Amino acid sequence: LAKANGKNGFRFYSSDLNATLERKMTIENELKKAIEKEELFLVYQPKVDLQSREVIGAEALLRWRHPKLGFVSPGEFIPVAEETGQIIRIGEWVMREASRQNKAWQEKGFAPMCISINVSVLQFQREDFLETVDRALTDAKLDPGSLELEITESVMQNVWESTQILKRIRKMGVRVSLDDFGTGYSSLHVLQNLPIDTLKIDKSFIDALTDINQHAMVKTIVELGLNLNLDIVAEGIEEEYQVQVLTSHKCRIGQGYLFSRPVAPEEFEQLLVPVQETVQVT
Ligand code: C2E
Ligand code: MG
Ligand code: MG
Ligand code: MG
Repeated sequence: LAKANGKNGFRFYSSDLNATLERKMTIENELKKAIEKEELFLVYQPKVDLQSREVIGAEALLRWRHPKLGFVSPGEFIPVAEETGQIIRIGEWVMREASRQNKAWQEKGFAPMCISINVSVLQFQREDFLETVDRALTDAKLDPGSLELEITESVMQNVWESTQILKRIRKMGVRVSLDDFGTGYSSLHVLQNLPIDTLKIDKSFIDALTDINQHAMVKTIVELGLNLNLDIVAEGIEEEYQVQVLTSHKCRIGQGYLFSRPVAPEEFEQLLVPVQETVQVT
């Protein structure tokens, strides 16, 4: 119908659709220059021990501040970056930057901790992915055990291939976490044989704890994870009662606004305890 109106049918589409396409094209174009222009940066959200409330690690989350567009959320630009393949370069930058920062904190005297980054399935499936990880760690002089890769259940579309890649990642000593667990379609059979270290329970299950009938779901996921010898992390904790329910079901690690939002490195550092408090001799 639109096209029947002339050679440039495009402008006859609803203005909503037009605006959406335009926004997408703008993001795609501006994203190309984002790394060079140093518009990308990482924020860190603590992972805490639910009993002691101590910070035991962090998730690095990508942020983009554009001079004209302002802050663009990862929920908006990551899908564009995935569609255009730009996620490969951006994802590598994230890995390198998180590794550099982690090493810098260790050198400042903070206890070594594991920092996780999110990895797109497109990065994961590339032939050179392991080399990229290895190079990032070597250049940062970071211990592989200090890096964890968060992948989603979408990598399970190709179970056999993914399992081989995961085995090689873990052989390097790098940790693997299954993010947003429970929202995808991985079968229990697949999960049982998956070489991973951590299960991250999706926020939707944590939100659902307001309903007592939903507690069984979290209980089941935690039991499953513990039986498979995995670390269990609950994401998106906002309320104290959620901590109570989670700890009663033996979930020991959590992440969420209740403890801290994702923050800039300088602010994150304030949450860390130095290994040795230097004793002043007078
Ligand atoms: P995710 O990996 O599941 O990250 C958790 C998201 O939940 C983050 O949103 C975080 O800020 C948010 N969050 C944490 N605690 C709470 C809470 O208590 N309440 C609420 N309402 N939200 C909470 P963010 O930073 O906007 O990231 C969204 C998604 O974008 C991430 O979901 C991840 O899938 C993707 N993403 C972020 N950084 C990267 C990256 O470097 N690479 C890739 N490939 N994806 C990334
Ligand atoms: Mg994540
Ligand atoms: Mg998540
Ligand atoms: Mg999520």
